[in-house]
Amino acid sequence: MSGSATITPLATFRNDSPYPFCPGCGHGVILNRLNEALVQLDLDPHEVVLVSDIGCSGLSDQYFATNAFHGLHGRSVTYACGIKLARPELTVVVIMGDGGTGIGGTHLLNAARRNIGVTVLVFNNFNFGMTGGQHSTTTPLAAVTSTTLAGNLERPLDICGTLAVNGAGFAYRGTSFDKHLSERIAEGIRSPGFAILDIWELCTAYYAPSNQLTGKALFGMLEELGLPVGVVGRNDVEDYGDAFRRAHPVVGKRAVPGLEPLEPGFEASLDKRFELAVAGSAGEKVRSAVRLAARAGILSGLRATQRDDYPITVQSGHSLSELILSPVPFAYSGMRKPDALLVLSEDGLKKAQGYLDAMGAEDRVFAIPGLRPQTRASLTIVDPRQAAVRVTRHNRSLVALAAMLSELDLFQFAALEAAAGLLAPAYRAACLEAILAGRALGAIDQ
Ligand code: SF4
Repeated sequence: MSGSATITPLATFRNDSPYPFCPGCGHGVILNRLNEALVQLDLDPHEVVLVSDIGCSGLSDQYFATNAFHGLHGRSVTYACGIKLARPELTVVVIMGDGGTGIGGTHLLNAARRNIGVTVLVFNNFNFGMTGGQHSTTTPLAAVTSTTLAGNLERPLDICGTLAVNGAGFAYRGTSFDKHLSERIAEGIRSPGFAILDIWELCTAYYAPSNQLTGKALFGMLEELGLPVGVVGRNDVEDYGDAFRRAHPVVGKRAVPGLEPLEPGFEASLDKRFELAVAGSAGEKVRSAVRLAARAGILSGLRATQRDDYPITVQSGHSLSELILSPVPFAYSGMRKPDALLVLSEDGLKKAQGYLDAMGAEDRVFAIPGLRPQTRASLTIVDPRQAAVRVTRHNRSLVALAAMLSELDLFQFAALEAAAGLLAPAYRAACLEAILAGRALGAIDQ
């Protein structure tokens, strides 16, 4: 393209299809104002995502030439948040009804509290229109709906007040008749952090006829309820995604929470996927020991996954940790049976029995003295009590695992030492000591 090429701003983000809504329904009006807002903002339609909820308003996205996502009832805000966090450059607008607002209320609350930079338009007509006019969380007191025939007894939810008090960057309450609705929608989209627009409108099929509600009466209703209109909440906030990316290092295109990338500097002798498991008891640092081995594998240029299994009681019962190492990328982190298994306690022995049954003569089982694993795999005994270090329940797993890894020779032992060297200073020396003691321990084939 030549440098002098000019891009003509879009005159509309709508396609040619007419809206399907009932005559007089407010949905089409709000969508027209949304279209005007997108035009005002001069956005690239490729960079706009409309995330729709369930209900009549959930039909809306198909009438726009933008990206769209349509999911489960009440969950639109969760999808929108995921999209925005993964692709912060996109403009993400949620279209939901008051039904979805009630169903997914906690999602709204948390998105507002976190200030994830999405804009939510609530098409608020005080009932579930699509399913027959049932009452919702915004139905006013005494209103008649198909589920409140004697008049609604529940206090209506103040959407803007609730979200603004919980930190939403921008909160607006108005109606589909507002002259400046498109400007307010554009303002919400431009505002940093989370924006909510609670837009009151008519469901001409159900709520309006049942409650003699007209456009003029909408304003009366707002007054009666004592709810302010216009921009009713503004908080000086930072977009959660921006704050997250600032607080965390970036690996490739992704912000990685609390992790520094591990730079490989050692060699591995593995030429194929190798699966290893450690079965012990809770509180014996089984998972920590395996995590160190996983990091040593990564420092050796291998791919590594770790999967842990322990009871919900956490500090009692078994602790099983699985480690898969591979010189090539792999997608499945499940384990049918390990190539090598270390058994450290009766709890672990019981838990690993399925593995022991499945393992064959080509596999290796390591166990501490006193345990009698029943298996066809070749058995090797490691005895941490013989290590040249004081062995406690906190270092026994690591001593035994270091002995096992030394025997298996999957990668340079120095990688394990280097992994320990990356630990917090409080743990570093003790872990190094345990690793070196494990290496010197030796193993006895049975
Ligand atoms: S049922 Fe109500 S909300 Fe649905 S299209 Fe008809 S008027 Fe609109």
